[in-house]
Amino acid sequence: MSAAKKKPARKKKPAAKKQKATRAKAKAKAPSAAATLAASLDLAGEAIIGGRPAAARSGKSFDTINPATGETLTQITRGDTADIDAAVAAARTAFEGPWSQTSPAERKRLMLRFASLIEANASELATIETLEGGKPIEDTANIDVVETINVIRWHAEAADKINDEITPTAPDVVSMVVREAIGVVGCVLPWNFPLMMAAWKLGPILATGNTCVLKPAEQTSLTTIRLAQLAVDAGIPDGVINVVPGFGPEAGEALGRHMDVDAVAFTGSTDTGRRFLHYSAESNLKRVLLECGGKNPFVVMHDADNLDAIADHLATSIYWNGGQNCSSNSRLIVHRSRKDELLALLMEKSREWVVGDPLDPATKIGAMISPDHLAKVLDNIDAGHSEGATCVLGGRQVMQASGGSFVEPTVFDNVAPGTQLATDEVFGPVLSVLEFDQPEDAIRLANDTPYGLAASVFTSDLRTAHLAARAINAGTVTVNTYGEGDVTTPFGGFGLSGFGGRDKSLHAHDQYTELKTVWIDLS
Ligand code: NAD
Repeated sequence: MSAAKKKPARKKKPAAKKQKATRAKAKAKAPSAAATLAASLDLAGEAIIGGRPAAARSGKSFDTINPATGETLTQITRGDTADIDAAVAAARTAFEGPWSQTSPAERKRLMLRFASLIEANASELATIETLEGGKPIEDTANIDVVETINVIRWHAEAADKINDEITPTAPDVVSMVVREAIGVVGCVLPWNFPLMMAAWKLGPILATGNTCVLKPAEQTSLTTIRLAQLAVDAGIPDGVINVVPGFGPEAGEALGRHMDVDAVAFTGSTDTGRRFLHYSAESNLKRVLLECGGKNPFVVMHDADNLDAIADHLATSIYWNGGQNCSSNSRLIVHRSRKDELLALLMEKSREWVVGDPLDPATKIGAMISPDHLAKVLDNIDAGHSEGATCVLGGRQVMQASGGSFVEPTVFDNVAPGTQLATDEVFGPVLSVLEFDQPEDAIRLANDTPYGLAASVFTSDLRTAHLAARAINAGTVTVNTYGEGDVTTPFGGFGLSGFGGRDKSLHAHDQYTELKTVWIDLS
């Protein structure tokens, strides 16, 4: 179902005058390539269990909604305990059967084929991700899908390159420390980067020889289901990747409490993440890996270079993905002497962040994921007003006529530490501005949060950069840029931002393996 195969029908040229009028009309109305593809897609919403589509045992389904229009896209299998049981059984059979007989080199080959099939279906995946997630097509096509392919390939390449250990023991002993796949991994995923978060889990899970059951967020099931279909097409054995869509308290909790799941990898809010620790404690002590929220600081010291470039980073950090990004730097902590200039530049840059139809290539901020989530963002904006902060940009819901959930880029100056706006993870395009005089105050403000996912520091002084990177409590600290590193670097958080492990990098492989000591007496 690749977009590349679809060619528009050729039309006879109209007369010159008429042609001009036709073109003008076409310009106003012509759908983008993604919109054309979107109209032709056949969306599959059934679970994938043991390599095959499966309706819910209960017969139930739910609507998945386009957040940019409010329209129903299709129906999705509403999985619950019975479906999770079936998926875990399929994953166990695949783990003990074909997958355990597959060498690391063969796993690599199959994963590389999987990545190539994702690439061959990139336009379709990007369009579905945009339809269901409200994310701009330029992002899903050029970032989400590209990163998904890259992550699967990178972990595939690592599959046959990690050695085990022999420890230095006495001459009459051989002592080996070997890594073994942990078994069946449950993955409970968020809606903000459905493909990428699935890939961050799948890459190391498959490379280390595990099987899995994915539970996508109920808002965004479609691309996860499509990924599992492509894995089957790539020759990855049936049951290695299962997908059970559904709601958190039904399918998610069933996975968290399952007695035959060996580990659960969760990305989502801290409140839900905590539940998985309870589920594990109350079931089989499965390993729990949590990637949760953040309220990340963007610190601009008095000696920061190139405020124009910094304003670009700041705009990207707060507006990209509509701010629905765990590593968004939603707190600007700026030296008093640089604030006015930086905010003036930010106002200019903000104009480039066009809110619009996610299928339009000109759009940079798409829809908030749902009316409920939009209400939460607007509630934080209201809190900003009532707490005495100064709204210097935006602050309103927009495009109501679309039926979707849109909000404009918003900046609050004079945000007081400790207020709702300064502490809540808004998860929207809403920036809080706080100022400081002394560098130690900047660090204190940066750490004034129970979260610790990511931070950015801007300074032209090497010493200040190193000291700040050491002093800020966060899993990732970027200096003179905004970002998260790349697939080679671990990603995860301190404090309420995470627990138990890291996504990405070779460190992610550790969390999906058990260490076993084999002690052999040679005497
Ligand atoms: P969420 O916690 O509401 O949902 C995440 C997943 O948990 C969904 O699949 C949901 O169905 C499931 N779930 C909900 N309630 C459950 C329950 N009672 N038992 C079991 N499962 C349950 O989070 P969200 O709103 O989908 O995602 C946004 C959050 O994710 C933000 O806080 C964001 O910061 C975080 N996030 C973190 C990272 C990271 O890498 N640290 C990446 C992306 C998103």
